[in-house]
Amino acid sequence: MEFEIISKDAMGRICRIKTRHGEIETPTVLPVINPNLPLILPKKMPNYGAEALITNAYIIYRSQRNEALENGVHKLLGVDIPVFTDSGSYQLMSYGDVEVSNREIVEFQKKMGSDFLTPLDIPTPPDADYSTARKDLEETIRREKEAKDLKGDSFLILPIQGSTIPELRRESAKVAREIEGDIYAIGGVVPLMDAYRFKDIVRIILEVRSILQIEPIHLFGCGHPMFFAVAVALGCDIFDSAAYALYAKDDRYLTVYGTKKLQEMKYFPCSCPVCSRSSPEEVREMEKDQREIFLAEHNLYATFEEIRVIKEAIEENSLFELVEKRIRSHPNLINAWRLIKDYRDLMEKYDPWIKKKFLYCGIESIFRPAVERHVKAIKNIKYEKEKIVISTDFGIVADLYLRPVFGVVPTELLESYPCGHAEIPEDENIEKEALEKAVEILKEFIRSNEEKRFVIHITGRWKEFIKDLPGTCEYVLH
Ligand SMILES: [Zn+2]
Repeated sequence: MEFEIISKDAMGRICRIKTRHGEIETPTVLPVINPNLPLILPKKMPNYGAEALITNAYIIYRSQRNEALENGVHKLLGVDIPVFTDSGSYQLMSYGDVEVSNREIVEFQKKMGSDFLTPLDIPTPPDADYSTARKDLEETIRREKEAKDLKGDSFLILPIQGSTIPELRRESAKVAREIEGDIYAIGGVVPLMDAYRFKDIVRIILEVRSILQIEPIHLFGCGHPMFFAVAVALGCDIFDSAAYALYAKDDRYLTVYGTKKLQEMKYFPCSCPVCSRSSPEEVREMEKDQREIFLAEHNLYATFEEIRVIKEAIEENSLFELVEKRIRSHPNLINAWRLIKDYRDLMEKYDPWIKKKFLYCGIESIFRPAVERHVKAIKNIKYEKEKIVISTDFGIVADLYLRPVFGVVPTELLESYPCGHAEIPEDENIEKEALEKAVEILKEFIRSNEEKRFVIHITGRWKEFIKDLPGTCEYVLH
């Protein structure tokens, strides 16, 4: 499969994938089409921003098998854009059984001309015990190998399973890479999404990404726009959304800040074509099926708007800033994102080195790779002179200045990225973590220059934080 990376930021990227039915630009969302009862006609999906669709091969196999085999899945849906097919694993998870074998459903997807086909993997639920998860994974792997032999001209999606057990997720990713698929789909996350267990999902994504670092990643079953920015920043490329329709059926309205209940809304906080011509009160008075279509349309517009916002952030290298704003819509997102502290090295490998600016958005900004790299860079600077002067105030002549977040900044780096391009609140107003981090970096710097003498000029709020420095330090309080 031709897969070209065009732009990068954090661990996210904009990519192009070439298929028999045209190009797809990722990150993107595949609207899930119910082949028997589409709420919105598949051919209308590009109007909302969709570049490809996903439908369920198992449902088609059960209800429209002959028609699909005769005319192909594209004719069946009435579209000529790329079509992904799922195999029935979701039904397997929901009902415990499906009436088709892996071989049958893979061959069926191939014969009906699916652009991207999926083996019948076993979605192990979260918190499974090790032996169950391992047994399920072994069967998934067996089916993936079988699908590889049967896939024909279709591209192959290889699901990554292993419940919430990091070791098994990594193993699943390793074996899938050996089998060699075209897209790798992190599965089994729907129950985690439903329970807002974002931290578990972030850990799973990062474990998988520690193995699959370049390959295209599909986060299967994640369709809520509130999680897209985080997932893209961790390297997910493709999402699918059944949410636009499921939430609409339930009178729920998707936003990047979370889900709203139509019943409780007075104003629509959205300017999409449908919201800008109605009020919640008017929509509540519609017939059920009309109301469902209205909400599904808004949900799709909101979904693809967020994808464009994310792509623009990647283009201008402000994806960290976007994520740090988005995570404030739910405490579980904040908890989840702070996990990146444990994966600094991985993230540092991919985040671009030079950006236009560094906007401080909250204490998570401290965990960005730019800060880590600054710390490494200053450790390598060697000073000839015996006595090094450090100041917290630019009004005092010094060799280095103490700044929140970045710690010590040599005068010659005051104008360059990241420190020189950083917009940070005043020392008096910033969170204490940003000052503590700076002092921690200062201590490390002193330790790596232990043969020197230091004179430290301390002003304002810094007095609370600068104490117990190692080495030979003279303190001058102002
Ligand atoms: Zn809207």
